[in-house]
Parts: sequence; C-alpha cells; structure tokens
Amino acid sequence: MTEFVRVAVPLRLRNLFDYRCPKSMSVAIGCRVRVPFGRQTQLGLVVDYVDSTSMPKDKVKEVASVLDEEPVITSELMNTLVWISEYYHQSLGEILWTALPVSIRKGLPYKPRMEIGYKLTDAGRELTADSFSKAQVQKKLFLALQSTQGVLTKSGLQHSGKSWRSAIQAMQSKGWVATKAVSGISERRSTNLIYDLTFDQQQALSNISGCLNQYKCFLLQGVTGSGKTEVYLRAAMKVVDNGGQVLLLVPEIGLTPQVVSRIEDALGVDVFTYHSGMTNAERHRTWWFARSGEAQVIVGTRSVVFLSFARLGLIVMDEEHDSSYKQQERARYHARVIALYRAKKCNIPIVLGSATPSLETVWAAKNERLTTLSLPHRATRVAMPKVRLVDLNQTNIKDGVAIPLFSAIEERLEKGEQSLIFLNRRGFAPVVVCGDCKWVATCENCEANLILHAADNLLHCHHCSARYKVFEQCLECNSENLHRLGQGTEKIESVLQNNFPGARIIRIDSDSAHTLKEIEAKLTRIQEGKADILVGTQMLSKGHHFPYVTLVGILNVDQGFFSIDFRAMEYMFQQILQVAGRAGRVEKPGEVIIQTVNPDSDYFERIFSHDYLSFANYELKVREEACQPPYAHYALLRANSISPDGAFAFLNRAKSIGIRILRDNQFDDVDLLDVVHSPISRIAKRNRAQLLVSGEQYYSMSRFLSAWVAILEKSSKKGQLRWNLDVDPIDFH
Ligand code: ADP
Ligand code: ZN
Ligand code: ZN
Repeated sequence: MTEFVRVAVPLRLRNLFDYRCPKSMSVAIGCRVRVPFGRQTQLGLVVDYVDSTSMPKDKVKEVASVLDEEPVITSELMNTLVWISEYYHQSLGEILWTALPVSIRKGLPYKPRMEIGYKLTDAGRELTADSFSKAQVQKKLFLALQSTQGVLTKSGLQHSGKSWRSAIQAMQSKGWVATKAVSGISERRSTNLIYDLTFDQQQALSNISGCLNQYKCFLLQGVTGSGKTEVYLRAAMKVVDNGGQVLLLVPEIGLTPQVVSRIEDALGVDVFTYHSGMTNAERHRTWWFARSGEAQVIVGTRSVVFLSFARLGLIVMDEEHDSSYKQQERARYHARVIALYRAKKCNIPIVLGSATPSLETVWAAKNERLTTLSLPHRATRVAMPKVRLVDLNQTNIKDGVAIPLFSAIEERLEKGEQSLIFLNRRGFAPVVVCGDCKWVATCENCEANLILHAADNLLHCHHCSARYKVFEQCLECNSENLHRLGQGTEKIESVLQNNFPGARIIRIDSDSAHTLKEIEAKLTRIQEGKADILVGTQMLSKGHHFPYVTLVGILNVDQGFFSIDFRAMEYMFQQILQVAGRAGRVEKPGEVIIQTVNPDSDYFERIFSHDYLSFANYELKVREEACQPPYAHYALLRANSISPDGAFAFLNRAKSIGIRILRDNQFDDVDLLDVVHSPISRIAKRNRAQLLVSGEQYYSMSRFLSAWVAILEKSSKKGQLRWNLDVDPIDFH
C-alpha cells in the first residue's frame, strides 16, 4: 500500500502538497481527500503517489479522511488536466477544480442522490384489487403500479391520496412493494431520420463513419444552412449504435434546447446537458451519468469538455470558431485545444464544424493536420442570401437606421415575413455627451463611457457593476444641454416600434433574456412565426434556425475596420456571414443589408460571394507577413493594481527578468514586447497593463514561460497587485 500521496488544493498556488496515508486508508489517484492545511482542513485531490524513500517521515502530516471509493477524475482526464496545466502554465489545483462540478467541489458524495421509485414484487403481483377492500389508498397505489411495467416515483403515485407515503411503506413492509433508485434515463425509443442526405452530406458522413475507432480530426466546413447538424446526428447515431458516447459542444446555452430536441427525436435517446443555466444538482447528475457511461449523448457549452466518460466515441464541436469556447477568467483555456487533446488520447474522431472556421483551423487544414469535409450548398437548395451595402455617408439615416432598410422591413411586414436586425451593442444610448463643453459621462471606476439603459432608466457601466442615476446636468459645466448619442438594441427596438406600431418585435440580448427559459420562450415564438421583427446581439445570430426570416439588417460592424486587434477582421467577417446566414434558410431566398461607412473595402466583395475561404487565405497571408498567430505563438502577461503605476512597475520588472532568462538560455526565437496600457486602462478602480510575449516555436516559448512564471511567482509580493498569464490569448482586453 502506498504510504504517501501528493495532493492539489483548490488554490492559485502552483505547489502540490505531500501527505502520509494512514495504513487503514486506501486511496486512489483522482480521489478527494480532506487534509490538514494551515490551521484548518482543506478539500484536496490526490494527483500522484510519492516515493517514500524521499520523505522525511516524521514531518509529513496525515490525510484526515478519504471521500471517494472511486476516483472523481479518471486517469485519462487526470493526464489531460496535467497536460493543460503545463500547456497553459496554470496551477494544477485551479485546473482540477475548474474541471469538477460544484457539488463535487463542495465535497458531496460522488454519486448524486437518485429519486426513489417503487414497483410490485412477485408477491405483490399475485394480489388483486379485491385484496385491498378496506385500504383505499393502497388499492389505488396497487392499481397504479400494476398498470406499469417499470417503476413509479412520487409524481406517479401522489395522486392516490395524501397518505400515499405511509400507505406504500405499509405495502413495502408486507413484501408487496420494492424500491429502486431511478436514474431517469428512459429506454431507447425508435429512431426518426426524416431526410435523405444530400450527396455532400453523404460523403462527409462516410468519411467520419469510416474512422470511428481511431483519432482523426475533421473540419466540416459547410455554408450556413448546409445541413451540418444532420451530419453530426448520423455520425452520432453510428457511435451510439456501437455502444459509444457522443460529446457535442455548442457555443451558447440558448442553442441547447433546439439541438437537444433534434437529437432526442432523431436518435431516440435521452440527451444530457451541461451548462451554466442548470442547477448544481442537475450538473452533478449529468457529470455522473457521463462518467458511469449511462448517458449516451451529452450536449454542453465550454466546460462540458471536462467531463469524464466511460466510453467516449466521438467529439463534435459546433461553430468551432466561436470565441465563447475560450475561458477568459481564472483557468484560461480553449475548449477546442482540450477537445483535440482528449480525442487524440482516447483514439476517437473529432469533428469541428463551422461555416466560418477560425484561421487556426483553416491553417491546420492547409498543413494537412486535419481533413476538410465541405458542404458548399444549402441542404434545402435555397440560394445563399443576396448581400447589399448601404453607404452611411450617402444615405439618409433616421435614428441609426438607413431609409432603404426601413423600406425593406416594411416590405417583409406586408408579406408576413420576418426581419432580423443585428447590432452588437446593448442598452439604449452608448454615449451621453454635453452639447456645450463635449464632456462625456464616464464610469468613476473604469475608463469607459456609461451607457443609458431605458428599461431601468439608469446609466450602466458594462465593465463593472456600477449604475448611476441619469445626470440632469453636465458635471463639467453644469449645462442641461445633454445629448444621448448612438444606438443600442433597446433604442433600435423603440425606433422600429415607433415606425411600425403594429409590428410584433422581439428583442434578444443579455438584458432582455436572462435565463434559458426566457431565451427558449422567445426563440419558440420566433420559430412559430409569432414575431415580425427580431432585434438582437450575437445571442440572436449564433447557429439558430429561423425559418421565417427573409431579411437581415446589420447595423454596426464597422468597428472591425478601426480595431487594433489583429483578429478584428476575422471576427467581423465571421460575424457578418453568420448573421447573414440566418436569412432565407427554408423556402424563400433571403436578403442582407449591411450599413457601413466603408463600402469600398475589398472585404465586402468576398462577403457578396459568401467566399469565406478566399478571405481566410488572404488574411492568413497578412498574418504570415506580420508574424502573427497561427504563424507565431502569443502569450499575454496581464497585471492590474489599485495604484496608478503598480501594474506597469511589475510588468517592467517581469520584462527584465524575462530578458535575463532569454539571454541565459539562448532562446533566440522568443520576443518580449513593450509594456503597454490595456485597451481599457482602468476597470473597477484597478489600473491595467500588459506585456506580450511572442515566439516562433511553441516548445521553446513554453520552456521560457515555465522558467519565467516560476520566478514571477516567487518574486511577486502578495498584496495589491494581481497578474495572470494568458497563453494563446484571443483578445487584448
Ligand atoms: P447547419 O447546421 O449547416 O446550419 P442545419 O443542419 O440546421 O444546417 O440544416 C439547415 C436546414 O436544412 C434545416 O431546416 C434542416 O432540417 C434542413 N436539412 C438538413 N439536411 C437536409 C437534407 N438532406 N434534405 C433536406 N433538408 C435538409
Ligand atoms: Zn458641459
Ligand atoms: Zn465601471
């Protein structure tokens, strides 16, 4: 028996701690333990055994208790998490704890509590209704149980009478009724596939199905509406038929209900979900059924990539380009990177699906690291929507909406078709400015403008939680001549409502739809044709299927042209094609109107022809010349401090430490850039700065980062300053 174990605790500490295991305890790697830590005890996870010869026996503290009989983290997942912590230079403790559902983190038993169900025993089945002449409730319970093959739970029994519980206990004590924990998984129902696949779908499917028991990465690049989901479904079906489990990642919780019902319908299995809109108990249940192998299909957002599986057979990542797959706080990771790693280790295929794949993925395809499967046409044979530009410099605009767009919406209203208006800004007016001295209302805590929200008539800061009463006067010159400039989704909603008083307008953004239920209710109304105009942010544009939308209006995409982020053009192009893809998906061809101040840009030529690959190839050349990802590796060291120059001072110190490491180790392909203010230089009273590291090869960059982070951790005093390292950052905020 092992005497010593190495334990990770859920703290940002990179250190692991060794404990002695009392002889009476057996503990496996991946189990939770309680260990003395300082003056308290702390929940920890066993990550390894330790060779006893290197241990100073008397000084080592003992494990207080072991919580699990079986590991909560399987060895496959443990290996993955160790790799992640090395790849991203994050503390293993933090990664381990990110990977576990809250119930497990809190120390609850690893098996979730199951509902108790009741069924008749053999002796019970020999009875008849007459056996219960006096006991009316028991009689009703008997009849209910007799009429079912399986077990009944509270919901099926409580109708028998208020005293059903004591009655069933009486029947149990007579040996007529037995209990059984109910997993809640139904028997597999019949499958229901309604379409004949198109030739391209068939090709894609047979490629995937031909590699079910080996690692292979596919990029399923299909234009919006090309029937990618149908391909995922058929591939999933093959895996489930062979007894395997399927993991499907989606970028947004709003997409889960639609996908889940499509899979349940087609495959006839219960689908398990995992996302932030669920309760801890619900997530615990999915976690457990994925681990035990009973869940055959699991659908979830980013963090679902951390579940343990008994027989994982296929991973599908829908809309793989979506930035929500990157976690930006605490443990910073990209779900795609982890999904690829796990597929490789489990020796199973992975399908990355998108109409607008990330340039990293396009680049990997060019280098033959993955196989591209194309669906160049819409499955419904409807033409791709026609794109038209409205030049904002030349056209009359009313409250942010160009006149031709108003006319196009009116046309749709007359025909009973839906219009979707997209803009990526919440609230009412994004700028409140003084007409006399040009003072702009900004947040006290942040370097950011305040945004007027009409719903509560308050000024919101979108970077901290601050809210302000609407100013009556300019804070600079006391003038009352304050203007509300610009448009957010709330404003556009009211502008459209004023212009089209009879129209049914639905707005979807994170202010108007908080819970999954609210989002779902709105989406259902849209899909049932009970709305005329949809207004929303990207929450509305991602992956949804809206059969009645024939017009898409895009109001503000131009920021991409002015951004300093080297990925801005990529994001802008993806966003336009994705939103445009909501138009005319079923019968009638769609139209897309884009308002822009830059109508002459070459970018639009490629948008007219929906030619994503030509854009991607062009943009990759630009990146190659500028030595930017995917042709280089980036890591961003961010710091923030209350004091105005604390972050700068720390980063400058970090830079000189870094330069020394580079010189001493001759890492000549790694570069440290200048320390700069972050684009939003102050958030929640903290001043922010950053330092970019760029490297040609990941290997030497990673060796440099290890050495660097180790020194920074030792040398940075605890206190006001906070810092973090973001490997492969996807933005520079
Ligand atoms: P994507 O995921 O590529 O955007 P979907 O899978 O949602 O596309 O399919 C778009 C539309 O085409 C849906 O209405 C879907 O039901 C329909 N569809 C998919 N495959 C076929 C097919 N083989 N024949 C007819 N219609 C199809
Ligand atoms: Zn003023
Ligand atoms: Zn603020």
